[in-house]
Amino acid sequence: MSEAPASLGALIDAQIRAAGPMSLSTYMSLCLGHPTFGYYRTRDPFGRAGDFVTAPEISQMFGEMIGAFVASAWHALGQPDRFDLVELGPGRGTLMSDILRVASGPPGLIEAMRLLLVETSEPLIAAQREKLAPVVPVWCASVDNINPEGPPLIVVANEFYDVLPIKQFQKLADGWHERLVGLVDGKRRFGPSPLALPRRALPEAVRSSAIGTVWEAGLAAEATMSTLAGRLAKRKGTVLIIDYGYAETRTGETFQAVERHAFADPLARPGEADLTAHVDFEALARAARQAGVVPRPLLTQAQFLAAMGIVPRARALGATNPVDAESITADLRRLTAGDHMGALFKVLCITSPGLAPYPFGKG
Ligand code: SAH
Repeated sequence: MSEAPASLGALIDAQIRAAGPMSLSTYMSLCLGHPTFGYYRTRDPFGRAGDFVTAPEISQMFGEMIGAFVASAWHALGQPDRFDLVELGPGRGTLMSDILRVASGPPGLIEAMRLLLVETSEPLIAAQREKLAPVVPVWCASVDNINPEGPPLIVVANEFYDVLPIKQFQKLADGWHERLVGLVDGKRRFGPSPLALPRRALPEAVRSSAIGTVWEAGLAAEATMSTLAGRLAKRKGTVLIIDYGYAETRTGETFQAVERHAFADPLARPGEADLTAHVDFEALARAARQAGVVPRPLLTQAQFLAAMGIVPRARALGATNPVDAESITADLRRLTAGDHMGALFKVLCITSPGLAPYPFGKG
């Protein structure tokens, strides 16, 4: 019997030696989700002492605007007396606690709500349980666990889709090859799969790229979207996705590792860095449409937050807390300025047919 590997790197290398180079999606799933060594399974990655900071951790205003959206979606649904509020990858529970504060406003909303959190990290589930008490959420590990039958759904996901595993493909002289993680002289390296793929396996928009071009496929993100869209088609409701990414399918390498607020080599220390890729919003919208639900025109984070009233909210917060006024203005800038999160981050709203939550209007 072989001994249990001492690290994720050793486990990955052993797997490559035994079975050959692995797909980037397998590598990414192991790095982020391995039950004992996976990045998200073992730690709280947020904040100054962690690896990165997300919008809800920057300011309560972000979650409040999403809370206002949840209220508008509930109104658009006709104020049902039962609905499921679902968050994908709730982190420390900060976003949800800000959402719930605002959602407690409209009479009847909180009483109608059941809270479902999709999360795989034990340390973060513990943080969410503490932060969200006295609400009693239900946890599940995957969107597959969301019941296909039931009351309407309102789903929110901030910086969730960027951690879902991707595959990479590269154009070489003889065509497109999947890029795999292999070992060269005992070191982890990217290399092409031996066989070229048929041209028609690639989306038309990328087929004729120059040699050397990389294209990323967010297959797990699309599968997650398809599952959610199927639930929406049956149960009615809406999904709001906020993440960094691009509006139209295109080529280019965005796979990256972030460790202690700096970019790192994604192959160097498996399980120690956050691995992400930019989200292809066109692919998500396509997956939703194929399942019979309606993607609304994509907004930038700046457009969405402005429409939800973040500017007057910042002013009001500054007026009640004059000592914090300067930092509130700085937070507003970080969330909305084009050279910060305002333009790179996008907001995709998907609804069941006929539903028009503010600010997305009729589709
Ligand atoms: N939404 C939060 C956290 C973003 S980080 C925020 O904005 O601060 C990504 C989150 O997704 C974490 O909570 C992480 O534990 C969770 N996560 C990562 N991979 C997951 C998976 N495969 N299934 C469910 N949750 C996952």
